[in-house]
Amino acid sequence: MERLETIIIGAGLAGLSTALHLRSERRILERSAAPGGLATTLFEKGYGFDVTGHWLHMRDPDIKARIEPLVPMHEVERKSSIYAYDRFVAYPFQSNLKDVPYKERVECLMGAVEAHTRRVAGIPEPGAFGDFVLHHFGEGIAREFMFPYNTKLWGVAPNDISPAWCQRFVPVPDLRQIVEGCFTDVHHKAGYNASFSYPLKGGIGAFSTALAEAVGPIELSTEVARIHAGERWLETADGRRMAFRNMVSSMALPVLIDCIEDAPDEVRQAVTRLACTSVRYFNLGVGKKVLDGLHWVYLPDPKLDAYRIGSFSNAVPYMAPPGCTSLYVELANDREFEDEDALAGVLDVLSAIGPEVTRQDVEVFQAKTIEHAYVIYDHAYETARGTIMKYLESTGIMSIGRYGKWVYASMEDALMDGREAAARIDED
Ligand SMILES: Cc1cc2nc3c(=O)[nH]c(=O)nc-3n(C[C@H](O)[C@H](O)[C@H](O)COP(=O)(O)OP(=O)(O)OC[C@H]3O[C@@H](n4cnc5c(N)ncnc54)[C@H](O)[C@@H]3O)c2cc1C
Repeated sequence: MERLETIIIGAGLAGLSTALHLRSERRILERSAAPGGLATTLFEKGYGFDVTGHWLHMRDPDIKARIEPLVPMHEVERKSSIYAYDRFVAYPFQSNLKDVPYKERVECLMGAVEAHTRRVAGIPEPGAFGDFVLHHFGEGIAREFMFPYNTKLWGVAPNDISPAWCQRFVPVPDLRQIVEGCFTDVHHKAGYNASFSYPLKGGIGAFSTALAEAVGPIELSTEVARIHAGERWLETADGRRMAFRNMVSSMALPVLIDCIEDAPDEVRQAVTRLACTSVRYFNLGVGKKVLDGLHWVYLPDPKLDAYRIGSFSNAVPYMAPPGCTSLYVELANDREFEDEDALAGVLDVLSAIGPEVTRQDVEVFQAKTIEHAYVIYDHAYETARGTIMKYLESTGIMSIGRYGKWVYASMEDALMDGREAAARIDED
């Protein structure tokens, strides 16, 4: 049996970053034929598609300094909106009520005032997402945007999940900011994603490719199938065994535990309580300029099967032939639908925004699924994840990245996880 100091499972951003930061010997095993994981790009007929929107938000200066020299990028200012009431409402909804029709605006504002009054009276921070929304935004904003949009995104009722996922991702304006948003545009840039970085060519996949080149050889098309944590060996799907001292895994947590032969029953049991959404999405190449130059648009309307439409080429023109648009469409998790029906709804929205888009204008149509997309922070989440993580800690196996840690996290978080895992090994 081959003996290795460190094995890294997965050449997504978490695995690549581990290898980039690690000073000692390591081997990277990747199931797919190419590196990058979710941060990959495919091109068809001149249209470029990432795995839905993948925009980089860098907040850690050391990661930025380490990563940026590898691939030239430019900074793009977000142009996003919500499409509701047959018009655009600036994102985030709760900070931009000015764009909402009069009757609904008054109701949203009254709800926000009532919520403020309840908070001032000392009502404690609630433990369920739906109640969190009511607590911070009030009934109007909940009804007009937060509840319908999040039900489509998560596929469960708002109170079936906790607000733990949203601390960094959902802007929470205070009452003054909500009132200001009824009269001005001052909060148009609110939120963590007001601007983003993106490679100058090649889509987000160029970023992963550059990282992969920097870290050296990766064993592609190599799937890890079995692991023995106690005896410290793994077996690949083609039957090769390797012994390891350290293991850093970025495969999805339930799959990792499934592979570990000597995982205790209590841990296997905990895995059955983990939940995530599997997002269906479309890649569309449209032979026209559409979506009014916007980078992405939120669709809270429950009648529409899509919850978000985004355009790569509106943000980065090289992602489509001149005069055309590459789009991604993320589809609701709270219902069943036929792809062609969902597409018809999308074309109606695009046509309402203008110009008219027919089925004949769609030059590329791909329907895809992300198996593990959004980890669901339901009420079993914390205990179940805690049991699994405690066990992994006891084995010394590091499970990192968005799906390894089983969290709602960004590409930069995956890079930071890799840096941390490498530091732990190098310090050992
Ligand atoms: C719909 C959607 C939109 C997103 N948009 C953004 C965004 O705009 N900005 C942002 O910063 N982040 C975004 N993200 C998050 C981002 O994609 C992730 O945080 C990041 O790419 C995770 O990297 P990772 O390495 O942890 O996981 P992954 O990319 O999943 O990499 C894991 C790797 O492990 C490999 N693997 C799995 N099992 C095995 C096995 N048995 N053997 C060998 N290899 C295996 C996989 O093939 C994969 O390459 C988005 C995510 C989703 C789902």
